[in-house]
Amino acid sequence: MITIPKNSTKNFKYFPIMCNRSYGKCLKNSYDVLVVGGGIVGFATARALLTRNKNLQVALVEKEDGPSIHQSGHNSGVIHAGIYYKPGTMRAKMCIEGLYKTYEYCAKNSIPHKKCGKLIIATEESQIKSLYNLYERGLENGTPDIKMINGNDIKTIEPYCKGLQAIHSPHTGIVDWAIVTKHYALDFEKLGGEIIYNFKVNSFEESKSNRALKISSRNNTEILADYVITCGGLQSDKLSLMTGCKADPYILPIRGEYLLLNKKKSYLVKGNIYPVPDPSLPFLGVHFTPRMDGTVYLGPNAVLALKQEGYSWNDISISNTLRLLKLDGVRKLLAKHIKFGINETIKSLYPAKQLKEIQKYIPDIKLNDIQKGPTGVRAQPLWANGTMAEDLVLEIASDDPTNLVKHRIMHCRSAPSPSATSSLPIGEVIVDKMLSKYTKLNDL
Ligand SMILES: Cc1cc2nc3c(=O)[nH]c(=O)nc-3n(C[C@H](O)[C@H](O)[C@H](O)COP(=O)(O)OP(=O)(O)OC[C@H]3O[C@@H](n4cnc5c(N)ncnc54)[C@H](O)[C@@H]3O)c2cc1C
Repeated sequence: MITIPKNSTKNFKYFPIMCNRSYGKCLKNSYDVLVVGGGIVGFATARALLTRNKNLQVALVEKEDGPSIHQSGHNSGVIHAGIYYKPGTMRAKMCIEGLYKTYEYCAKNSIPHKKCGKLIIATEESQIKSLYNLYERGLENGTPDIKMINGNDIKTIEPYCKGLQAIHSPHTGIVDWAIVTKHYALDFEKLGGEIIYNFKVNSFEESKSNRALKISSRNNTEILADYVITCGGLQSDKLSLMTGCKADPYILPIRGEYLLLNKKKSYLVKGNIYPVPDPSLPFLGVHFTPRMDGTVYLGPNAVLALKQEGYSWNDISISNTLRLLKLDGVRKLLAKHIKFGINETIKSLYPAKQLKEIQKYIPDIKLNDIQKGPTGVRAQPLWANGTMAEDLVLEIASDDPTNLVKHRIMHCRSAPSPSATSSLPIGEVIVDKMLSKYTKLNDL
């Protein structure tokens, strides 16, 4: 069966009717805007576009058979409160804004969530100065109601946890981000958007039809659109290269592996417990995270995945790994953090080695209380000089409006963590950029 769009021309190739299984709606294949990527950032953007201008015809394509199959469905599930990020950056501002907006959105849509709070704990004297610096940073960022507490106060919040001093952030919370993503998808559909799963974008070309662009997938399936925004997460550098953007920021796939705490011991962890992070690393360190389903995750660690979507040591792409290892920036980064990388790899292969870290906080957790848990792969954006991209990076290959492919496709190349928490503001910022760049979209 095929769909024939109303405004068809002989240049169209049609794809079989694709029904979004969740809602059983059939789709056309010609749109004002196509969003690529069905993670939380893609859906937040798609939803924001139609909220801003409900007359637009918008579709979202995703290569997997459902939403949030990658980062958005494999994360710690924390609603962050913006303590860590450099004051004044978009990352810091969007996190705090995202915190408030997430609670508002969850309440409005009856999405289960919990404001269980968070402690960032110093277990050694040498960490106290960094803890105070972090506290100052949180205050500067506007993290609500944080305070410094002592060892006794730690016990009143987390009775099984020890530490010298801690930052208490009462508004940090937990939620299942995959459920939040599904709600964004529902909003998008209710606003008239169309979702097409199992559509992996392989190329972008100029179209000879009444739409500017032809977006192709395998088996000659095609979609036509006037503008495209890609939100490809772990694949965002590859999508950007398809339209002639520069090579960096590259996306380094960093796998985070969690340990699971035996359910009978879940009572040992009441809220989020985090270590004082190493400021030179983009990771927050092994933390204790209660989940909405009642389980407790310990971790994650951070090891280089051997494939963009490499969820275990068996997921290997030799060509992709060699591509990354040939890059100067990647080699510089790996050389700088070689000791950290080796330690994390050892902990990955022998989870018992992580126990020592865990027991510094909660000594009652024993070896037979932990087992290997789920994994997630983080898209770590890296500039060619080996520094990490910390803020949102949007790119268009060319400012020349006559070059349709290079000009009309915008890429979200980096939506750095915690972009689940920040997803609503990120969607708004991306749409602001699109509507100011492509002014025609305001008039439709
Ligand atoms: C281990 C881990 C823990 C984290 N913990 C937290 C946390 O506690 N709190 C928080 O706020 N954030 C957290 N994050 C960060 C957060 O999960 C991510 O920043 C966020 O999910 C990114 O969303 P995204 O939509 O950009 O990417 P993704 O969810 O990865 O979505 C990108 C989508 O694009 C699709 N795609 C790619 N290429 C194509 C193509 N060619 N054609 C069609 N589709 C394509 C992919 O299949 C994918 O579904 C964590 C991340 C990880 C990995």
